[in-house]
Amino acid sequence: MVTRFAPSPTGRLHVGHAWSALLAHDMVRGRGGAFRLRIEDIDGTRSRPEHVAGIVEDLRWLGIAWDGDIVFQSARLDRYEAALEQLRALDLLYPCFCTRADIAASAMAPHGPEGPLYPGTCKALAEADRTRRIAGGEPHAWRIDMARSAVRAGPLTWQALPFPWEDGAAMDRVRANPIQAGDVVLARKDAPASYHLSCTLDDAAMGVTHVLRGDDLIGPTDIHRLIQALLDLPSPIYLHHPLLTGPDGRRLAKRDGSIALADLRAEGADPRRLADDLRHARFPIGISLGRA
Ligand code: GLU
Repeated sequence: MVTRFAPSPTGRLHVGHAWSALLAHDMVRGRGGAFRLRIEDIDGTRSRPEHVAGIVEDLRWLGIAWDGDIVFQSARLDRYEAALEQLRALDLLYPCFCTRADIAASAMAPHGPEGPLYPGTCKALAEADRTRRIAGGEPHAWRIDMARSAVRAGPLTWQALPFPWEDGAAMDRVRANPIQAGDVVLARKDAPASYHLSCTLDDAAMGVTHVLRGDDLIGPTDIHRLIQALLDLPSPIYLHHPLLTGPDGRRLAKRDGSIALADLRAEGADPRRLADDLRHARFPIGISLGRA
């Protein structure tokens, strides 16, 4: 068994991250498995080196040890580019020159479960236009042609374990419906790969067998399953846990400084006790388990 924790270094860790990391860590400890740490640091606008150091410090404070070296996405850009090349060769990607404002202004923008879908403006561009605009240095993202990709991949399912998980729990097969996400971005204008691509490639490269993460990522799992099929990658088992919510009922976010591990530490919290409480789903006052 191999699990992982894959934070983005855009802030310090909060209690929700700690709980998620402990779940993934505990799943393999005592079962001869490995728990890996991956830093998802290719979001150049929001990732900060000081947050990487902060995350490492927070995890150590909490007593969470990981196996092997930390994997940094910023060191794997050539892998992402190779995968993009493979998908381009299959004619499954197209360059998109739209700005956020262009997309928002499109009266036609259809909606999916995760928000507005890309209206497909750049899908219709002639090849000559694409070549000219790229040659002219116009910033562009690369989007997946979802309809074409879904046809190529055929019907897909992913394996899910229920949460909370117990030894011997029966696996579910979930039908993947990536089409409803629309033509998502696989390489961003400002980053050489999107979360969907880098996460899927890295989980495969790190030999991750069980992906344990928040249930806000159930929808993206359909996209990840599709990418696995297109690139011939193994598909791990997924467990999605409910997100923790704050006193206002909203999910915890890095903006809620009060539940940052660094703050609890500064207040003199005992990390062993905190870890033990989280393991038993005893959360700090005001924090509770959201509905799955
Ligand atoms: N970097 C992502 C996050 O912090 C990881 C998501 C995942 O576990 O796949 O939300």
